[in-house]
Amino acid sequence: PGVGGLLTRAAATWPEHPAVLETGTGRGLTYREADAAAQALARRLVAAGVGPGDRVALRLPTSVDFVVAFFGALRAGAVVVPLSPQVPGPELEKLLAHSGAKVVVQRDAEDDLPDGVSVVTSGGDPDGGGEPADAGRSGEDIAVISYTSGTTGPPRGVMLSHRALLANLEQISALEGALEQDDRVLITIPLFHVYGLGPGLLQATAVGATAVLSERFEAQRTLDDCAEHRVTSITGVPTMYGEFAAFGADELRRGLATVRRMTSGAAPLHPKVLTAIREATGLDVYEGYGLTECAPVVTSTLVTGYPKPGSVGRPLPGIELRLVDSDGTDQAVPLDPDDVDDVFEAEGETGLVSIRGANLFSGYWPDGDHGPDDEGWFRTGDVGYLDTDGDLHLVDRANDLIIVNGFNVFPREVEEVIGQLAEVAEAAVVGVVDERSGEAVKAVVVPAAGASLSEQQVVDHCAAHLAGYKVPHLVEFAESLPHSATGKLRRVRLR
Ligand code: ATP
Repeated sequence: PGVGGLLTRAAATWPEHPAVLETGTGRGLTYREADAAAQALARRLVAAGVGPGDRVALRLPTSVDFVVAFFGALRAGAVVVPLSPQVPGPELEKLLAHSGAKVVVQRDAEDDLPDGVSVVTSGGDPDGGGEPADAGRSGEDIAVISYTSGTTGPPRGVMLSHRALLANLEQISALEGALEQDDRVLITIPLFHVYGLGPGLLQATAVGATAVLSERFEAQRTLDDCAEHRVTSITGVPTMYGEFAAFGADELRRGLATVRRMTSGAAPLHPKVLTAIREATGLDVYEGYGLTECAPVVTSTLVTGYPKPGSVGRPLPGIELRLVDSDGTDQAVPLDPDDVDDVFEAEGETGLVSIRGANLFSGYWPDGDHGPDDEGWFRTGDVGYLDTDGDLHLVDRANDLIIVNGFNVFPREVEEVIGQLAEVAEAAVVGVVDERSGEAVKAVVVPAAGASLSEQQVVDHCAAHLAGYKVPHLVEFAESLPHSATGKLRRVRLR
C-alpha cells in the first residue's frame, strides 16, 4: 500500500483516537472519521471523472479539509497537486495548465477557474455509503507533484512517488525521540508544502498521533494553542522560533509546558534563537535540512541527538551525502578555501551538496527531467562543508553568490554576522551592481522591536568580523523582509 495506506492502517488500529484537530474552530476528526471522510471525498472525485494518475489540485489551508482532501484524492488514485490557497489568479491558471489538473478541491463552490477545470468542494457529506474507491497506487506511482516555492526561479513541479515519501518517513522514524502515538504535533506551516506534509502530517498519521492544525502562525495565539491543546511536538520554521524567542522566559515556559520536541527546517535557524529558547525553557530546537526534491528531509541534528548551533546535523540513516564541485565530478572541491576559516571555522572544504537515497524524487513534471543521475545522485544548489565531527554546515545557495572584485561573498555569512547584534531582528544581504567592483554587498536590516541602530554600527560590526570585501557598502533599514510561506527569505523579490 502507498501513502494512502497510512490513514487506512491508522483507522484500523486506532479508530477512536483523534487524528486531526483545528485550533481555530475546534473541529476535529478521529481516525475512523477521517478515513470515512476521505472515502466519501474519493467517491465524489471518482464521480467527477477522476481516475488513476489524474492530477487533482488542492487549494486549501492547513486544516482538516486539507487532510481529508489529500487522502481522498490518493484513494481515488489521483496525483495530488497541493497549491497555496493564496496563489493569485494568473499564477493559478499557469499551475493548473502546467500540471494538467482538471479538478480542484477547494472550500468555495464559486468557480473562478479556467474553462475545463471543475470544483469539488471540500466540506461535503462525510458518510454517504457505497463501495470504497481505492485505486491502490503505490511504489513508483507518483503521489504528489509539489511546486517548489520559486525562491530562485520559475516554479518547478517536483514528482514525488509513494516510494519516496514513505522512504523519508521511515528515515525520519529512526531519529531520536521520534513521534509516538500519544504525541500531539503542532503544524502551522503550510500542508501544501512538503515540509508540513511529510515530517508534519504524514509522520503523525504513520504512528497514529494527533495533528494539531492551525492556518496561520501568530506568536501569542500559537503559544496559547500549544498550552490549550497540550502540544508535545512542533514542526516549525526559523521565523516562528525567532518570534517565540522574543517572549519572556515565564511566558515561553507556560506556553511550551507540554512540549518535548521542536524541529526547525526550510531556512537557517540563527544560533541566537536556539540559545534564547534553550535558556528560557531548557528545550532544544533541532535543526534539519531538506528540499522538496528529497521528500524532503536530508539531515538533522536529531541524528546525533544534540543540537549544534550553525549546523544542520548529519544525513538521516539511509541517505548518502557528498560534496562535489560544480561539474558534479570530484569530491569536496573548495570554492573559496581562503574564506571559510573566517567565520565558519571550517575544517572541511566547501562543495555542492549531493544526495542519494530512496527518498529522492522522480524528476520534474511532466517528463521526469533533471532527476537523480544514472548512479542515483541528485545535486542540490546548496553549498556546504562538513566539520571534523562530520556535521554538515550550509554556506549558502550557489545561486546567491555575490562576486565583489572577483572575490566570493555568500550572503548568509554576512547575514549571520549582522544577526549577532542584539539590536537586529533579521538581516538580508544581496548583491547590487557596482561600477567599480562589478557587484557590491548591500544589507537590508530589520531592527529588533524598540532598538535603535545606525548604519555605521552595522558596518563596524561587519568590519570587525569579516574580510573587507564582505563588509556591506550599503545598509538600508526596513520594517520587514519578504518571506515565502515556509519562512524563507525571498531574495529575488528583495533584489
Ligand atoms: P526554488 O527551488 O524554486 O527556489 P525552494 O528552493 O524554496 O524553491 P524548497 O524545496 O522549498 O524549494 O527549499 C529547499 C531549500 O531550502 C534548500 O535547497 C535550502 O537552500 C533551503 N533550506 C532548507 N533547510 C534549510 C536549513 N536548515 N538551513 C538553510 N537552508 C535550508
